[in-house]
Amino acid sequence: MKTITCDVCQSILHSPVSGRSYFHLAHRDICEPCHDKMQFQIKPVVRTKMPFNYKWYDALVRDSVEKAIQKGKFDAK
Ligand SMILES: [Zn+2]
Repeated sequence: MKTITCDVCQSILHSPVSGRSYFHLAHRDICEPCHDKMQFQIKPVVRTKMPFNYKWYDALVRDSVEKAIQKGKFDAK
């Protein structure tokens, strides 16, 4: 059986489905609960960015993911 370990919280996912039960972002595997928290964390930042820019967004995601991996979680407010 295929398993994936979330790079942030270290949970093991069985038979993961990309884009549904896990997300591949910034060359990392992220489980759905962590992905939700990340969205929650970056949404207020994304909202202030005008005009929206994908390069900037990618950098923001990468930065948030790397910080979360160091802490073992996303700081969802
Ligand atoms: Zn996780």
